[in-house]
Amino acid sequence: MSKNVVVVGAGQAAAQCIETLRKKGFDGNIALIGDEPLLPYQRPPLSKKYLAGEFGADRMTLRHLPFYAEHAVQLQLGRRVTTLDRSAQRVHLDDGSTLPYDALVLATGSTPRRLRLPGSELAGVHYLKTMADADRLRGEMVPGRRAVIVGGGYIGLEAAATLRQLGMEVSVLEMADRVMNRVVAEPVSRYYEAEHAGHGVRILLRASVTALQGDAHGRVRAVITSAGELEAHLVLVGIGVLAEDSLARAAGLDCDNGILVDEYCRSSDPSIYAIGDCSNHPSLRYARRIRLESVDNAFEQGSTAAINILGGAQRHDRVPWFWSDQYHHKLIIIGLSQGHDQLVLRGDPAQHAFSCCYLKDGEMLAIETVNQARDQMAARKLIAARTIFDPRKLADASIALKDCV
Ligand code: FAD
Repeated sequence: MSKNVVVVGAGQAAAQCIETLRKKGFDGNIALIGDEPLLPYQRPPLSKKYLAGEFGADRMTLRHLPFYAEHAVQLQLGRRVTTLDRSAQRVHLDDGSTLPYDALVLATGSTPRRLRLPGSELAGVHYLKTMADADRLRGEMVPGRRAVIVGGGYIGLEAAATLRQLGMEVSVLEMADRVMNRVVAEPVSRYYEAEHAGHGVRILLRASVTALQGDAHGRVRAVITSAGELEAHLVLVGIGVLAEDSLARAAGLDCDNGILVDEYCRSSDPSIYAIGDCSNHPSLRYARRIRLESVDNAFEQGSTAAINILGGAQRHDRVPWFWSDQYHHKLIIIGLSQGHDQLVLRGDPAQHAFSCCYLKDGEMLAIETVNQARDQMAARKLIAARTIFDPRKLADASIALKDCV
């Protein structure tokens, strides 16, 4: 039985892991080390309500200080773990101190992919991962000024909606021929492109950035693209994230697009667990390895790792799901669509409520719902149960999803 649990990275997954450890009766030592100077907080509002100024910092915190005091969690915030000594079972911190562990949990998340082009280090070029990033961006958001967003993924588009609603002139540059092309079906991409255009956001598809130009003060003033030059008072880069697995790699743990773990969230070293964005796990439902960037995955893996640290044998076996809020539209993605042989549209995008269903031999692999709460509630269970659907019934949105089987 573990006496010392050390959790590295103070994010969503870490908070859930710690909470579960104590809920399940763990009375040993817990240390939480995070390089941000803040208690674990939720990140989704960083591109939405926090960026818009509708949420204060207080609402971002997942659990406030009394929780950590009551549950005897030793907090080391604003501290980075620099190395793992696996043979001595100790972590080394950037202040020179070390901590022993019986069980180590790596919850180090992911880091934004950087733009590496002439001018990408200019002032006014932003990324959006932390509250500090959002605060810096907010400090430069002025109505009437021009923002250029590089990347038409969900973070770029959510931020575009927020900036536009605050009165900025917003352009989004996307290299592919449609937005969110890696994660949603074409009808969903086209719906969001039209919604953004309707709100006055300029979306440039098949457009790549070649350089950023600065003014005499070293501040970005223009973005040079394959489609021409765009004036910019600020630039936000949202071109994906990379798993933060550098500690694990340096310590010789097996990594490949994240820290490789088994279905119990255990890495190639049985005393080390990896959870959340930094982990790459076997999906039992889809029979392949996946790395996810979602709150649900961080939350569930946090619980699963805690139970297994306490001697349980709980498998992480979930149908992944993810949401994105842009304007007043809610997009929910459930499951993984790769390998489908049929796409069925349910409902009418013109009515602002529809779903795209991905089938393989009639079995639903995944669904994307836009403002369709009814479909998404039913879909999670039906996808997990490998339900076979009748595509003709499925195409009729007046028939409830559970009756399309
Ligand atoms: P994180 O929350 O990233 O936490 C990891 C922490 O570890 C970070 O604080 C990091 O600085 C720290 N760390 C890393 N290395 C070290 C080290 N060596 N020593 C100490 N600390 C370290 N998901 C959704 O499902 N829906 C959404 O709408 C959504 N919107 C999002 C919007 C934005 C702007 C962002 C950035 C993310 C969004 N996500 C969304 C994704 C979701 O927030 C993440 O998947 C989730 O936060 C992952 O949790 P985590 O605990 O794995 O990592």
